[in-house]
Amino acid sequence: VTALVRALRDICGAQAVLEERSDLEAYVTDWRGVYTGTALCVVRPATVHETARVVAACREHGAVVVPQGGNTGLAAGATPLALSNAVIVSLSRMRTVRSVDAPGCTLAVDAGCVLADVQETARAAGRLFPLALAAQGSAQIGGLIATNAGGTAVLRYGSMRSLVLGLEVVLADGTIVDGMRALRKDNAGYDWKQLFIGSEGTLGVITGAVLRLFPTVRSSVTALAGCGTAQAAMDAFALLNESLGETLSACELFHDDAVQLRCAYDPSLVRPMPASPWYLLLEAGSSLRSLSEAVEAGLERAVERGFVDDCVVAGTSAQARALWEWRESISESEKRSGPSAKHDVSVPVSAIPAFLERAASAVVERHPGVRVLPFGHAGDGNIHFNVLLPGDGSVDAASVNATVHAIVAEFRGSITAEHGIGRYRRDELPEHRSDAEMRVLRAIKHALDPDGRMNPGAMLAI
Ligand SMILES: Cc1cc2nc3c(=O)[nH]c(=O)nc-3n(C[C@H](O)[C@H](O)[C@H](O)COP(=O)(O)OP(=O)(O)OC[C@H]3O[C@@H](n4cnc5c(N)ncnc54)[C@H](O)[C@@H]3O)c2cc1C
Repeated sequence: VTALVRALRDICGAQAVLEERSDLEAYVTDWRGVYTGTALCVVRPATVHETARVVAACREHGAVVVPQGGNTGLAAGATPLALSNAVIVSLSRMRTVRSVDAPGCTLAVDAGCVLADVQETARAAGRLFPLALAAQGSAQIGGLIATNAGGTAVLRYGSMRSLVLGLEVVLADGTIVDGMRALRKDNAGYDWKQLFIGSEGTLGVITGAVLRLFPTVRSSVTALAGCGTAQAAMDAFALLNESLGETLSACELFHDDAVQLRCAYDPSLVRPMPASPWYLLLEAGSSLRSLSEAVEAGLERAVERGFVDDCVVAGTSAQARALWEWRESISESEKRSGPSAKHDVSVPVSAIPAFLERAASAVVERHPGVRVLPFGHAGDGNIHFNVLLPGDGSVDAASVNATVHAIVAEFRGSITAEHGIGRYRRDELPEHRSDAEMRVLRAIKHALDPDGRMNPGAMLAI
C-alpha cells in the first residue's frame, strides 16, 4: 500500500478507496468502451472538505487527479491515461440536495447528484429543471457542468452554462472556492465559474452548484413532421419558431434511413406516419394551459407553404413518448448496425441543409461503402453526423472524421457542440482553433493548474 492510498483512507475511510483491479475496471473504461486507462485507485469523498483534502494529498504525493461523475461522457474525458499515478476522484457519494428555493426558482446540490434525481427534486417542489438527455439516469450534475451538457431542450433553456447560478470547486492545490450564490445578477469581478463550466475536469473538481429552476410546464405538445428536403425541414422550423416563440423547446432532425434502420431491427413497429425523406420532431411547452391550437395552426401553415408534407400531433403523453422513441432510439440502432464514425458538430442553424449536402456527398465519395446517418438537435445547429462503416474494416473512422471536420471548418462550425474534446478529439483541437485561441486556453490552464495535475491529457495535450 502506497503512502498516498494510506492518506486517502485516512481522509475518506477505507471503504471509500477502491484499489482492486476488478473494482477499478468500470472506472478506467469510457462509456463507449473504446478507451481504457489505469489508475492507482478510485477515491469517493463524501464532502467538499474531504475532496479538498484528497486533492491536496494527491498533490503532496505527486499524483494526478481525474474527476469522474457518472462516466457517461462521450469524449472519454473521465478516463485516465495509462498512468501509474492517476487517482480517480468519483463524486458518487456526494448526493445531498443542499437547499430548494421554489419561489426563488433555485436549487443547491452536491455535484454528485444524478440528473434524474435533480429533475425529480425540482418536480416535487412544483418547478422544472429543464436539462434532459438519454443518460440522465447516471450523469451527474458535476459531469454535466464539466462538459457543459446540452440535451433536448437547449433551444428554449440553453445548455448547462445557462442553468448554473453558483458553483463550488476545489482547485488543483486543494483550495475550496465557494461561489454557491443564488444570484441572477452578479457583476462583481470576473465570472470565474464560467471557466469551470465546460472545463472537462482539467481545472479543478466541481463539488456543488446552485441551479436555475423554471415554472412547471402544464401543457406540452409533441409533433412529428415529414419533410421532402433538409432545407424544407429547416424552413418549417423557422416558421414554427416564429409562430410558437419561446414555447418551442425541442427541434430534432433525422433522416428516414434512421426510421428504416429501427424498423429493420423490430419488424413489428408501425411507422407513425407515411414515409418522408426527413423528419422534424418538435416539442412545445407552456406554463399556460392551452397550446395545441397554436402548434396545429403553425403546422398547417408549414404544410400550406410546402415545407411539411405530412405530420402527426401526439394526442396523449404515451403517443408523445412513442414519437420521441423514433429520435432517441437512433443511437441504439446505430450501435446494432456495427462500427460507425461519430460526430458531434455544430454549424450556424441556417447552414444546416448546405452542410448536410456537402458532408454527405464528400463522405460517400471519399469513403466507398459507408452510409450517412445524420440526426440531432437541429434547432441548435448541432448535428450528430454519424457515418455507418462497412463491417469489413475497409474504412477507418479517423479518416471519415477528418473529412467531416474539414467541411465543418468551411462553415466556421465546431467539431464538438456538446460532448466536449476529452481524449477523442484532443489532437484535432489545434487544427480547428487559431494559435491565439489555443494560447488563451493554455494560459487559463496554466493559471489554475500550473503543475498540470488536473486530468492531464484531456482537452489539451500534456
Ligand atoms: C445515451 C447517452 C446520451 C447522451 N446524450 C447527450 C446529449 O444529448 N447532450 C449532451 O451534451 N451529452 C450527452 N451525452 C453525454 C454525457 O451524458 C454528458 O457528457 C454528461 O454531461 C456526462 O456526465 P457524467 O457525470 O457522466 O460525466 P463523466 O463522464 O464522468 O465525465 C465527463 C467529463 O467531466 C469531468 N467531470 C466529471 N465530474 C466532474 C466534477 N465533479 N468536477 C470536474 N470535472 C468533472 C470528467 O473529468 C470528464 O472530463 C450522452 C451520453 C449517453 C451515454
